[in-house]
Amino acid sequence: MTDKKPFEIARETLKQLTVRKLAPTPANYQAIYCEVAGIPIDPPFPVERLRDISQSLPTKTPGQQRQRGLLDSAIGQLSWTGVKNALMAYGGFSPPAPDPVSVDARSAVATVSDPTAHSSSGSPALTPEFFEQIARLIEYALPALGHDDARFNEQTQSLLKAMRQPNADAVAVKLMLGNFGHRLSFAAEDQAEIKQTLLKLLHLIIENIGQLSLDDQWLKGQIDAVMTACSPPLTLRRLDDVERRLKDVIFKQTEAKGHALAAQEEMRQMLATFVERLSQMAESTGAFQGKMEENARLIEQAKSLTDIAPVLKDLVGATRNMAHDSLTARDELRGMREKAQTTEAEIAKLHRELDRVSAQARHDPLTGALNRQGLDEALERELSKVRRQDTPLCMALLDIDNFKALNDKLGHATGDAALTHLATVAREAMRPQDTLARYGGEEFVLLLPDTALESGIEAMTRLQRELTRRFFLAGTEKVLITFSAGVAQLGSNETGHDAIRRADQAMYLAKRAGKNRVLGA
Ligand code: GH3
Ligand code: MG
Ligand code: MG
Repeated sequence: MTDKKPFEIARETLKQLTVRKLAPTPANYQAIYCEVAGIPIDPPFPVERLRDISQSLPTKTPGQQRQRGLLDSAIGQLSWTGVKNALMAYGGFSPPAPDPVSVDARSAVATVSDPTAHSSSGSPALTPEFFEQIARLIEYALPALGHDDARFNEQTQSLLKAMRQPNADAVAVKLMLGNFGHRLSFAAEDQAEIKQTLLKLLHLIIENIGQLSLDDQWLKGQIDAVMTACSPPLTLRRLDDVERRLKDVIFKQTEAKGHALAAQEEMRQMLATFVERLSQMAESTGAFQGKMEENARLIEQAKSLTDIAPVLKDLVGATRNMAHDSLTARDELRGMREKAQTTEAEIAKLHRELDRVSAQARHDPLTGALNRQGLDEALERELSKVRRQDTPLCMALLDIDNFKALNDKLGHATGDAALTHLATVAREAMRPQDTLARYGGEEFVLLLPDTALESGIEAMTRLQRELTRRFFLAGTEKVLITFSAGVAQLGSNETGHDAIRRADQAMYLAKRAGKNRVLGA
């Protein structure tokens, strides 16, 4: 470090820039400045990355919003100290004093029994309350770590006991905390590993189910959706979605399997009867043949009409029997054909039933978005969360612009593909915790939890932009899909459907105002 004054360093820096014929860029200036001042060169401040981190921090409580504001302002000022303080405050720790003096456990021992005492550095002393807080913190963290490691459980219990003793020995507790921390890091790694492995297993199982249902488009769509939903980062909401979709898949597969087995049994029985009947026919035809040959021989050998009469009688009897057998066989075969037709009708009926059952599922088969039933369930879940946690919830209703014209111009199948495209883009543009439901033909509802009105409007505008970026391809033709949307924030004492109705009115106003826009209700 030099003892030059800042303005001398700055002057020298400018001089050096000229002498060395360097471009006067901020990076060059900083490098020379550090060199002249004899201080290490700081790597460039990663503004974008830090902003990215800041954006992903939750801002549910006023405290979190304040800390986010502080963090953003520290990033704006390129201040590492500011960033550090804001992040510590965010995590619930007080920022360090300007000149931090570490609290030595030994010096704190004396103050443990005196709750009002403060250590010489001005930091709070290790009071019993402080130990109690750490003990509780450990207890809160325990469920996340599993209970399989008996040694770790024992260690934790002794640590908790030591901390809760009336005159806790700070030195011993410090040592135990060190050991605990060490083991904790292993346990946490184990849990992360277990989660990863379980996720891999889940993927394998889903893949396997998918391969069993290759011939069913609906099931295939569901399987793909489950696969996407159970990729990290996992949240309880996403797992909930995986569970619902898997239930649908299992439900439909069980139905399909039951029906296939019934049809198979029916066919098996018909085939058995058919084979039996064929062999009977072959037998009786064989017997008739034998009788004819025998009678032909007798006729040849006959010397008088009296010899022929019994042969003829026998022949007539055999022919009558044969005719009767043929008739029976024909009747039986006709019966079987009728039975086959009934079975066919039965299968067709089962198919219709299956479609009806699918309608009870919670997802729309075309777009994979939730259907009305699914939306009702999702609404119920979100509303109970709003009541519990008092967080804002937005509902958006979007309706595709001029969809009828698109259908008329490009055909209904292309219209269907456009709906699927919109649902895909919406799912990818929204956050994992948002819910997409098909509300009607070309109308979708989005539930945006933890979102106030302004942010809800922003989210829908973002989706609009995303749709202009990701064209829908009808063959080789690029088609721009636009929508009009209304956004409503759930009011206190308002039902979910009332809020959707308000969003619908705002959507209608957006249409009236010229379409392709988002309006708040
Ligand atoms: P606006 O901009 O005012 O919303 O006009 P629009 O043409 O989008 O609205 P309108 O209500 O007149 O027409 C909606 C069309 O959506 C009519 C219907 O045929 C079509 N539609 C509804 N469901 C489906 C579907 O599942 N597939 C396809 N391809 N078309 C659908
Ligand atoms: Mg409409
Ligand atoms: Mg429309």
